[in-house]
Amino acid sequence: MLNVEYNRDKYREAALKAWSTIRRNKIEKLKAVNETFDDYIFDVDSRKIAYGTYRINPPLIKKSKLTWVEKGGVGKELSDGWSLNYAVGCTHACRFCYVDSIHKRYGERRAGPLVNRAWGNYLYLPSNMDEAIEKTKWEKWNGIEAMMSSTHDPYLPTLAATTRKILEAALPAGVKLCIQTRSPLVSNDLDYLAEFKDQVRIQVSVATLNRDLARIIEPRVAPPEARLNIIREAKDYGLNTGIIVAPIMPALKIRPSPSEDFEEIAIRLAELQPDKIYGECLHARGSNMSELEAMLDEKIDLGNFDSVMEARFHKTLKKYNLNGRWWKEHRSN
Ligand code: SF4
Repeated sequence: MLNVEYNRDKYREAALKAWSTIRRNKIEKLKAVNETFDDYIFDVDSRKIAYGTYRINPPLIKKSKLTWVEKGGVGKELSDGWSLNYAVGCTHACRFCYVDSIHKRYGERRAGPLVNRAWGNYLYLPSNMDEAIEKTKWEKWNGIEAMMSSTHDPYLPTLAATTRKILEAALPAGVKLCIQTRSPLVSNDLDYLAEFKDQVRIQVSVATLNRDLARIIEPRVAPPEARLNIIREAKDYGLNTGIIVAPIMPALKIRPSPSEDFEEIAIRLAELQPDKIYGECLHARGSNMSELEAMLDEKIDLGNFDSVMEARFHKTLKKYNLNGRWWKEHRSN
């Protein structure tokens, strides 16, 4: 059971700190759509989610830098330089997520004022999705891999049906897809995806096997075991698979040893034998550190954790005859 005291004063303090990182002229607008500071911060209650619509510009496949270094990207190997994003917001509400700070900067112009709500509590969906699917010349990306998705989970409950429509347009046209999800809803599409085995890889992210920590940092996401099970199922269908172990958090009161946690993950990886393994530690983006600190009720010291954990990652994987790629801190994504 989760045993974290709801400390309203601490959250308020953290929210104020987070707000101070946002330009002053935005603060009044933020206050106008968040009734109280508490609305702006932590609330796992999904009834608080506000929905809106926006017009998406085709083509649905856009340039992305999360790709191979030799292709001019940042080395995350998540596509051939392309991504498919078709929502503004992500109701999984992961506390470490890097995306909210982007929407807080650009999202109001692009979608609307709901982006000023707490992360996880706004979601804009395209009003012209069918038209955008139709107007995207999918054949242009025949044999080219795109990531689905980099700014939201493609299998949020509100997006799963749209995702299926995109798959049915993109895959027969030869587009390759790196499907990145934390949601077991992808399981419903595995039989269809298996018809395009050479074009698809299924990747899930797991930050920890400690369920209490997972519940805090990924409040609306299925437990880590359920995500690992997606990979088990995908392999049964003969699909390419990947597991991203991220973000690995440094030592915390709730989970004192990142090494022991990762060792348990490595044991699962050895059982599952995914085709790709990636690792990354927590990085500071936007207000994610102050929000996490308030939620965990302690200061997070990243120090040289990136280098220490990188070495531990490779050493532990080697112990289990596995290979993986570590994503070092990169400020431009
Ligand atoms: S699933 Fe991904 S995009 Fe969505 S909140 Fe979590 S980290 Fe952010």
